[in-house]
Amino acid sequence: MSIAANSAAQTAVPNFVELEDPDVWAAIAAEHTRQAEGLEMIASENFTSPAVMQAVGSVLTNKYAEGYPGHRYYGGCEFVDKVEDLARERLKKLFGAEHVNVQPHSGSQANAAVYMTAIQTGDTVLAFDLAHGGHLTHGMKLNASGVLYRFVHYGVRRDTNLLDFDQIASLAREHKPKLIIAGASAYPREIPHGKFAEIAREVGAKLMVDMAHYAGLVAAGIHDNPVPVADFVTSTTHKTLRGPRGGIAMCRAENAKLLDRSVFPGQQGGPLMHVIAGKAIAFGEALRPEFKAYAKQVVENARTLAAELARGGVKLVSGGTDNHLMLVDVTPLGIGGKLAEETLDRCGITCNKNMIPFDERKPMDPSGIRLGTPALTTRGMGGAEMQQIAAWILRALKSPADEKLVAATKAEVAELAEQFPVPAAKLEAAER
Ligand SMILES: *Cc1c(COP(=O)(O)O)cnc(C)c1O
Repeated sequence: MSIAANSAAQTAVPNFVELEDPDVWAAIAAEHTRQAEGLEMIASENFTSPAVMQAVGSVLTNKYAEGYPGHRYYGGCEFVDKVEDLARERLKKLFGAEHVNVQPHSGSQANAAVYMTAIQTGDTVLAFDLAHGGHLTHGMKLNASGVLYRFVHYGVRRDTNLLDFDQIASLAREHKPKLIIAGASAYPREIPHGKFAEIAREVGAKLMVDMAHYAGLVAAGIHDNPVPVADFVTSTTHKTLRGPRGGIAMCRAENAKLLDRSVFPGQQGGPLMHVIAGKAIAFGEALRPEFKAYAKQVVENARTLAAELARGGVKLVSGGTDNHLMLVDVTPLGIGGKLAEETLDRCGITCNKNMIPFDERKPMDPSGIRLGTPALTTRGMGGAEMQQIAAWILRALKSPADEKLVAATKAEVAELAEQFPVPAAKLEAAER
């Protein structure tokens, strides 16, 4: 049998999940259908490639590999060493980093490892306010970060909704933080890392940039790369970077040993080698020219969507976007974020309700929704589709009680979705 025929034969494997556990399979199949028939507009989500999904479902999940390549606490690591080295080399190249760690199980664990490296329990940290678009690992009081360290928060300006650098500088001078964090989960503008670096230098603080959301835009050269100016850079791998669910941390060579020690044994035991293989593949994909074109289209699509929505009568936080997401104040339409999220959900459009800066409503029913374009762009959608989707969103949010309209929109959404197959459709076809 030729190699090609052999590999074709191997793809015709039975669906073991379906055969051995129909209950779990039913849920997976339903989720597949949900992803395929709806429009995913949660800004932190994306569709990773079939190659990444296969790596994450591979035999590497069986392997214990505590330690780092060449220095493991277990035997039999020669092949997983190769995988982790590939991931590390590609990640270094992608962002021009001196040292990288690809083992954090999530973005949250990457952040915890950096805190453990850079500061002591009880130290003061200056970070972006969760209510203005920050992340819970940046000092929310129920999160380990908020329990272990003393966080002080900066926000955006009331008039422009842009980062308030006067406030950031004055808080830094007043509180003398050991660490300053830049990076956000719901900020629609490019973050000027250099300005943070200047303030950090002035007050003698270390700078950490958490680019979890926009790492893909940095990888593509569209947004400013924080690696040259920051002491530590963390990210997730599953948002705009489009890899498997996980985290990464990067630093200068002088902090390499300490950072590695903080990830393992500081925060974690055995690394998820199957996920690290997926990361290696995703970094390889992000190094290719096609990824640059993808990231450019993500930003262009966000601009188109934002402009159309604004034309239709909603308000955009900061007036627009220059990244992959936008914060939409839906209150001019006479509704809140909770009803907006639910209405769009019934139309097959998935997004999340979100606080807007200086929100006067409650977190469980805030004024806004957050919309992102990374997942739709991965499916191949462009400007024409964004215009259509904006029209559907506005129509539904203007008449959330009109069940007939909602049903009609859901059908139109499914029709559009069908024209742009999700990457996992290739795997599904092979399993049949
Ligand atoms: C998503 C996100 C994280 C955490 O990622 P998890 O993988 O969900 O733990 C950290 N920081 C920021 C800014 C994020 O947006």
